[in-house]
Formats: sequence, C-alpha cells, structure tokens
Amino acid sequence: MTIYNFAAGPATLPAPVLLEAQKDLVSFPGSGMSLLEMSHRSKPVQGMIESAEENIRALAGIPDNYHILFLQGGASAQFSMVPMNLLTPGGKADHLVTGNFANLALQDAQKVGDVRVAGSTADRNHDRVPTPDEMTLDPDADYVHFTGNNTIYGTEWPAEPEVGNVPLVGDLSSNIFSKPIDVSKYGLIYAGAQKNLGAAGVTLVLLRNDLLTRSPDTLPAMLNYNTHSKGHSAYNTPPVFSIYILGLVVKWLLDQGGLEKMAAQNEDKAKLLYDQLEASEFYRGHALQGNRSRMNVTFNLPNPELEAQFATEATVEGLVELKGHRSVGGIRASIYNAFPKEGVETLVSFMKEFERING
Ligand SMILES: *Cc1c(COP(=O)(O)O)cnc(C)c1O
Repeated sequence: MTIYNFAAGPATLPAPVLLEAQKDLVSFPGSGMSLLEMSHRSKPVQGMIESAEENIRALAGIPDNYHILFLQGGASAQFSMVPMNLLTPGGKADHLVTGNFANLALQDAQKVGDVRVAGSTADRNHDRVPTPDEMTLDPDADYVHFTGNNTIYGTEWPAEPEVGNVPLVGDLSSNIFSKPIDVSKYGLIYAGAQKNLGAAGVTLVLLRNDLLTRSPDTLPAMLNYNTHSKGHSAYNTPPVFSIYILGLVVKWLLDQGGLEKMAAQNEDKAKLLYDQLEASEFYRGHALQGNRSRMNVTFNLPNPELEAQFATEATVEGLVELKGHRSVGGIRASIYNAFPKEGVETLVSFMKEFERING
C-alpha cells in the first residue's frame, strides 16, 4: 500500500531526492567517502555548499545584494536572532500575529527589545490574516515581522503586507519556494528546512547586506549574522548533510520547472481539498477564503470523536499524520511542494466515503 504522509514537518520529501541521497550516502561522487565523514572545509563539501547556494539563487532569482546563510537552531532560533541583530539602539519593531509561531516569535522578540503588536487575528482564532485597516504600522520601526504561512491554523498571506520603506522580515518556514517570490521586498527571510526545503537541521536565511551593519559587536559570535556571512556558513561545523538534502530539493524544484510551475501545482492540489470542503456540510474549513493556505489545509468534522475516528480510519488506508496540531485539534492535511497530487485525490475520495457512512 502506498503511504501518503500528510505530516506538517518534517514532511514528505521528493522520492528522487531520497533515492539520490541513498545512492550517494556511502560514497559521495568523486571522493570515496560519505559526506557524513568529510570535513566541512574539504573541497567536495565546500563545492556542495556553493552549488546549493547557486541553485537557490537561480530558483528564486535572489539579487546579488542578498546573503544566503545556512544556520542551525531551527526557525525558532531566528525568533531571537532577528531582534538581536536588527533592532537599533533604542529602536522598535512591529510584529503581525497570525498564529502560534507568530506568537512565539513575538514573545522571544519582546525579551530582546521594544517590540509591539501591529496587528493580530487572535480574537478570531486566526481564521485569516489582518486586513490593511487592521494594521497600525509604525513608519519609524526598525522592521516589520510577519509569518507568511500559518502552519497550525492553515492560513496564508496572499501577498506580503505593505510596509513602505520599513524592512520586512518574513518567517516563510512553511511556504518558502511554493510560488514565485520577490525577494527584494524583504530585508530578511528565514525558513526551517523541514517543511518545503528538505530535512531538519538547517535554517535558510536570506539577508539584505546593508542590514548587516546593524548587528552590535556585543553579540556572541554564533548569534551574529556577520559571523556566518563572513564565514560562508562554515564559521563552525555546519549541518553538512542537511544542506546537501536542501541542495537536492532545490535542484529538484528547478527540474520540475521552477517556482511558477510549483505555484500552479500547489494551487491545483489545494483546490481539490477546498472544493471538497465547500461541497459538504459535514466538513468545515477553518481558514476564510482569500487567506486559505495552499500548504496546510485545516478542517473540522461535526465533533472531536468523529475527527479521531477519521484520522484513525485514514491511517488504515495509508493516509497518515492527518491529526490537527494539539493546540487547535481537528484535521490538518499538509501538502507541501513534494506532496504528490495522487495523495490529495486519495484523501478526497476517503473524505467522500467517510461522509457517506458517517454523515
Ligand atoms: C515549523 C515552523 C516554525 C518552527 O520551526 P523549527 O525549525 O522547528 O524551529 C517556525 N515558523 C513556522 C511558520 C513554522 O511552520
């Protein structure tokens, strides 16, 4: 039986990536050793990191004035690294709070400095992102932080918030490279790799180079972006194998035809599920139309007992990891870049059958 893994992260990886990693695991081409055994200063590893960077630049059209960094500590480490590096002395930042991770980012940033909520959808259980009227952005802020896709609630910003000349910081952990992106709209982008980019252990950071001057010298080396940009992500031992997998995924995205192609496929996959939710009274989608995530489709059944039964019976059919996040319950289908359309079609058939029997 084919297993379709709807996990929110770590998540489904492209099969060709897993096969290539398996083939190269024992002996990395041209070296006779495993990447897991090689110095991060060796030629093959340095070459692998450079080609991952080049492919990321090509895939997303990243301008020359942006650094590409491969960091550790997950997206969560960026919740504090961003304010430590980007807040100026006496400066302040604005956060847009649209879900669980946005809230964690806010809490950490507030430990570092003067950080304000400039818009929140907490009072409506994050069923959409704020409208422009609901945001009070400070034109003098050092930056505005937002979360591009809300993995737990299943909402997504259809476009970046309009922030004028204030640098925009995006946590794009769960929707990066799922559609074309205009990186020049951002001061900084970060994304943990384990949702759309690869394996856990590496966080991709894209940083506009003028912002590097803000980092205070008093920061510990590992927490200063300058350390990592000067050291080309190898100041200390980087997560070599996770960078390698990320490089293979980016190469796979290029082979698929790039981000326009991924956007069309992702729209198409999500539409199958949202159409099914709309066609039924039995299932209720959480996110409002216009802000629905193409990556995480969240919905409820008439009661928690039916939701538990749904997840259990789906597992028997090979549709695994559909239980919603512990903080919101319900059902969540995570269908990132690498998730196959056949898996979505199989889930839609299962939903119809489940409703027919239990509705
Ligand atoms: C998963 C997730 C995180 C946390 O990522 P870690 O790499 O586990 O720290 C942060 N932000 C968003 C939007 C996420 O989806």
